[in-house]
Amino acid sequence: MIYDVIIIGSGPAGLSAAIYAQRAELTNIVIEKTGMSGGQIINTYEVDNYPGTPGISGFDLSVKFREHCDKLNTTFINGEVVEFKLEDDIKVVILDDGTRYQAKTIIIASGGLPRHLNVPGEERLSGLGVSYCATCDGAFFKNKTVAVVGGGDVAVEDAIFLSRICERVYVIHRRDEFRAIKSSVNKLLKNDNVTVLWDSVVESINGTETVDSLDIKNVKTGETSNLKVEGVFIAVGYIPNSQIFKDIVATDESGYIIAGESCETNVPGIFAAGDIRTKDLRQIITAASDGANAITAVERYLNQN
Ligand code: NAP
Repeated sequence: MIYDVIIIGSGPAGLSAAIYAQRAELTNIVIEKTGMSGGQIINTYEVDNYPGTPGISGFDLSVKFREHCDKLNTTFINGEVVEFKLEDDIKVVILDDGTRYQAKTIIIASGGLPRHLNVPGEERLSGLGVSYCATCDGAFFKNKTVAVVGGGDVAVEDAIFLSRICERVYVIHRRDEFRAIKSSVNKLLKNDNVTVLWDSVVESINGTETVDSLDIKNVKTGETSNLKVEGVFIAVGYIPNSQIFKDIVATDESGYIIAGESCETNVPGIFAAGDIRTKDLRQIITAASDGANAITAVERYLNQN
């Protein structure tokens, strides 16, 4: 069978695309790697910025998304996509068990993962003071002292956001210059409650039940110190799950698939939705929005081809 659309990934973008695909009566399947829908949000302690569900856990929100899909009789296939190729206009997906699926269009919604520091304490205290999303978790650190690690746009924007909520924000950057755009950096440095620790790296994240301090090393002087914080936001970039698509669709230098709001890539019939595509704000709501936009673009493509 040749499906109208195959959706790869079952995070908010993939599930939203599935809902729109069923409602548009497109033949489709959703391929999910873990056998568990929801993507990264499964591990989010509390989601307070998705309209209509204040305080819901990421896990419970995933269940709701999945129930919505099940109500519309979406077909989910468990498996990891290990190969993706084009046979003329047909998109071919091969799973780890060798199963092969074909479609006229494909939506790549395979997400990405925040890059980790890989220091002692990071994994153990994840969700217990270690966060990879300031806009998701910042509100839990009201009037507290936190650190942001990184020097790119996300780190600087996160630190500006946190400076409005937290008592003090330390920004720990491994060099003596930010990578982020100047206007954001200037805005950050105007805040009295922000301190930048230049040329510094986190060597360990400490705490028994929750984060209470960081061990820091100045890479120029070799000096080490202990910084008391209750939270640490790690913003050292993302690793998009785009490896197997890279030879077919255009990606930027960080591996994100280049696509705008319509989710169209440089290859007709291939769409990228959610965290995997180039965009400014990677959130549940923008991923869900992408799913809807991608299916609309799929319908347009199918009508014209
Ligand atoms: P990024 O630009 O790649 O910056 C990552 C930062 O983390 C860099 O400062 C890097 O240091 C540091 N870093 C990387 N690995 C590290 C490690 N192991 N230990 C310590 N520090 C480490 O990533 P991003 O800030 O997540 O942004 C991703 C993309 O989205 C960028 O292209 C960005 O411009 C874009 N974006 C744009 C906007 C906007 O236009 N408003 C907003 C957000 C994001 P070095 O500087 O030393 O390499």
